[in-house]
Amino acid sequence: MKRTLALTLCVLLACSTLACGAPKTDASKPTVVATIFPQYDFIRAIAGDRVNLIMLAKPGGEVHGYDPSLSEMNLILASDLFVYVGGETDRWAKDLLEKNGKDLNAIALVDLVDTVDEELAPGMQGEAEEAPETDEHVWTSPRNCIRIVEGLCDALCALLPEEADAMKTNTAAYISELTELDGAFHDAVNNGKRKTVVFAERFPFRYLCDELGLRYYAALPGCSSNEEVSLSTVSFLIDRVKAENLPCVFTIEFSDGRIAKTIADATGCEILELHSCHNVSKADLDAGVTVLDLMRRNLQSLKKAVN
Ligand SMILES: [Zn+2]
Repeated sequence: MKRTLALTLCVLLACSTLACGAPKTDASKPTVVATIFPQYDFIRAIAGDRVNLIMLAKPGGEVHGYDPSLSEMNLILASDLFVYVGGETDRWAKDLLEKNGKDLNAIALVDLVDTVDEELAPGMQGEAEEAPETDEHVWTSPRNCIRIVEGLCDALCALLPEEADAMKTNTAAYISELTELDGAFHDAVNNGKRKTVVFAERFPFRYLCDELGLRYYAALPGCSSNEEVSLSTVSFLIDRVKAENLPCVFTIEFSDGRIAKTIADATGCEILELHSCHNVSKADLDAGVTVLDLMRRNLQSLKKAVN
């Protein structure tokens, strides 16, 4: 209840912030609107200040359950490129495109990679009545990021042909960092002692875990709106940590860590965070944090988890 209220306040606040004044843009540059942080960061890395880049997600805010305000809708419709995820969370974007698609240059991240459905792993608490949904957290695997960055580079080059060479150079540099990171993730897991991870949370890391051959257990599926985790789910996860003698349990960013603490208290394991990059805190955004930075943090946590 409290979280729902906080969420509503957040959304209201986010809407009013934008309504107060549209973001300042340079009319000589194309405007690109990104719904959430991953594509915002990728576009920033490829295009730098060659475009007016706007992220709709407010730093530190919850992106699930977000709905754009009228002024944000207008911002999207007036943009030169709109980059959304294309999952259940931004279904509003699909509706917007169905109504205005002809006039809008848009890319969905899910269309740039091979997707899988969200999966109900053993012990995971699901919404049984719902059909499986596409797992939209495609950016959590570095290999997927490479394909996404390539797709975004193509779209940006079409928008700014005279800047294509420079943006392709930026893209190549970014991809070489992603490739190195992908290798480091694989090395960490291949050299590790364990192949199982436990999340006391929603689980948005299926693409990363599949890529690395990690077995996972989690309280809830990726974008679950369910906030109440049952005792039997918690005790299932405690049993997994004990049975496999796991050194840690994972939380994700902006979590209250309540379930992780229960599991840690019952098993003596450590609590570590994996950042899913949906959104970043104001402090991180102001400090210029990138998806690569967050993935490098994740790599360090994952190394502890598999050893
Ligand atoms: Zn999500």
